[in-house]
Amino acid sequence: ERGPLSLEEDGSDKLDRALRPRHLQEYLGQARLRDSLALFIDAARGRGEALDHVLLFGPPGLGKTTLAHIIAQEMGAGLKVTSGPILDKPGDLAAILTNLQPFDVLFVDEIHRLSPVVEEILYPALEDYELDILIGEGPSARSIKIALPPFTLIGATTRAGLLTSPLRDRFGISFHLEFYSVDELAQIVSRSARILQTPFDAAGAREIARRSRGTPRIANRLLRRVRDYAQVRGNGTIDEATAQAALRLMEVDEYGFDGQDRKLLQAVIQRFGGGPVGVESLAAAIGEERGTIEEVLEPFLIQRGYLVRTPRGRCATQQSYLALGLPCPDAIAN
Ligand code: ADP
Repeated sequence: ERGPLSLEEDGSDKLDRALRPRHLQEYLGQARLRDSLALFIDAARGRGEALDHVLLFGPPGLGKTTLAHIIAQEMGAGLKVTSGPILDKPGDLAAILTNLQPFDVLFVDEIHRLSPVVEEILYPALEDYELDILIGEGPSARSIKIALPPFTLIGATTRAGLLTSPLRDRFGISFHLEFYSVDELAQIVSRSARILQTPFDAAGAREIARRSRGTPRIANRLLRRVRDYAQVRGNGTIDEATAQAALRLMEVDEYGFDGQDRKLLQAVIQRFGGGPVGVESLAAAIGEERGTIEEVLEPFLIQRGYLVRTPRGRCATQQSYLALGLPCPDAIAN
């Protein structure tokens, strides 16, 4: 069973780990983030201090966990990995914090899911490297303070808006991870293919990149499936035709939509006349959780112009009609 401090990441296997960049120079894309982070790390190291606490927000698979590993590595520090939902008692967090070595990095994934009592423990720990704990009950209860070593908390969340503001305010550094461009994803696919020792050409890498929903995790996953296809049905090399054939087989269309994306757009268009439709109705219509729609599906569709969010709900765009091959009403086409 997984304890509150699990050193293994969820669902990661050996291949995933092999593909994960270890140094900031290997972390492709996110250029602005990378530049600022390199500077903050240099400054903290120069002063012999722990790096300020870092908040990373953005949809799944964009490289938040990877960055936490890289930050620890670049700071020459140890890394502890845990997540909001695992830490259900204040004591769980207190135990982790009191076991930290000086300058350790503590990565808390899904930090917006910390319970309020656990979050309380975190405030003085972040601000003053101090733990306030209450011992005993009733009139004899008293609070004691325990000094903690300097450490860096890295919190990850899908959207900054999910965090309480006292928690958000305690991060000195905060980065919004963006979806990756096709060029950046093509570089990531090429790097991964070299690590996997799979022959490929530029057009093949680009084809995978184009259909990866702006997301490195998806790019690496598609690469591995296309590699299987190339090995069994092709000559082992990933070129454009092989990539296209493999992706067609996997039902990844040329827009990079997966089944859920298509289902969502289809619902907006065919069941709600193109919108506006509220997120709750949409969730019921496609049998998906509201959170998944807001944090996983929508960000990509909105960023790429397939969906717009208005005060009255979500609306389809001309592009989404086109992508689904449906006739576009005049009102939208204009
Ligand atoms: P998140 O924590 O945001 O869900 P991860 O850090 O687990 O995402 O990233 C998923 C995978 O994508 C990683 O295992 C890594 O191989 C790859 N990856 C993510 N970001 C990058 C990047 N900037 N450059 C290269 N590979 C990346």
